[in-house]
Amino acid sequence: MTHPALRPGGLLLVFLAFLLPGIPGVEAPSPGVVVWKFDDLRTGPRGNVSAIKPVVAWSRSTGTPISLGVIADRLHEATSDEIQWLQVSAAERGGTVEFWLHGWDHRKVTDAQGTTIGFEFKGTGLTSQTASLRQSQEAMQQIAGLTCTTFGAPYNASDADTPQALDTLPEVTVWLFGPPGDTRRQVLPASLRLETKTGVVSSAAFFAAYDRGPRPRLLVLQGHPPYWNQASFTEFVRIADRLRSDGWVSRLPRACRDLGERLMP
Ligand SMILES: [Zn+2]
Repeated sequence: MTHPALRPGGLLLVFLAFLLPGIPGVEAPSPGVVVWKFDDLRTGPRGNVSAIKPVVAWSRSTGTPISLGVIADRLHEATSDEIQWLQVSAAERGGTVEFWLHGWDHRKVTDAQGTTIGFEFKGTGLTSQTASLRQSQEAMQQIAGLTCTTFGAPYNASDADTPQALDTLPEVTVWLFGPPGDTRRQVLPASLRLETKTGVVSSAAFFAAYDRGPRPRLLVLQGHPPYWNQASFTEFVRIADRLRSDGWVSRLPRACRDLGERLMP
């Protein structure tokens, strides 16, 4: 079979492929956009900032935007070093991280037998959900000096009250793993799984699914770096390196607000 470059027109395509990157406004084709959705940051002596620092350091040294969901109930326990770290890491202060609202206390609601019957944003009612969101945003603003514009529910569990609760924070315009029916925010849906279970990353498992396809144009990849061991961190870097070499571009959730339409299947 003739090599494609030798078919009529093939040489022209090869020639154009060399020219295109040099033409302003014409970018080399990319398979799409990656959003790194990292969960469960908690500050203070009982928190996990030291466990999250390596992935933030990686983000800074490689210039890769990432997002980190903050559980807000222990922000008032944050040390001054942790507050400074939050601020210098934040994208709006020159860092590479978008911090987002991941609930006040990340609670599960259980019955007398210990069976889960609800979550912070599921089955708890509009008043409670609104209070969780407002308290969290106020703590971020007053303690860290940052205003979050993205939300992701603990356990990705929400109900019909959650959009109404979010309406009380109009500055929140992106909902990670939100329901497809919410039209008042940009919902960024789940796609491939970065972790085989919470806190465990396997590049072999990830690439088995990635290579099998189909791949959406927007990959929102969820991970829990507070629980990663060294092996999971290494596996994560392996995945990120390969995605970059395949041409994927990493973006903050807030940068997908307007990209969304073009990237949805
Ligand atoms: Zn969580």
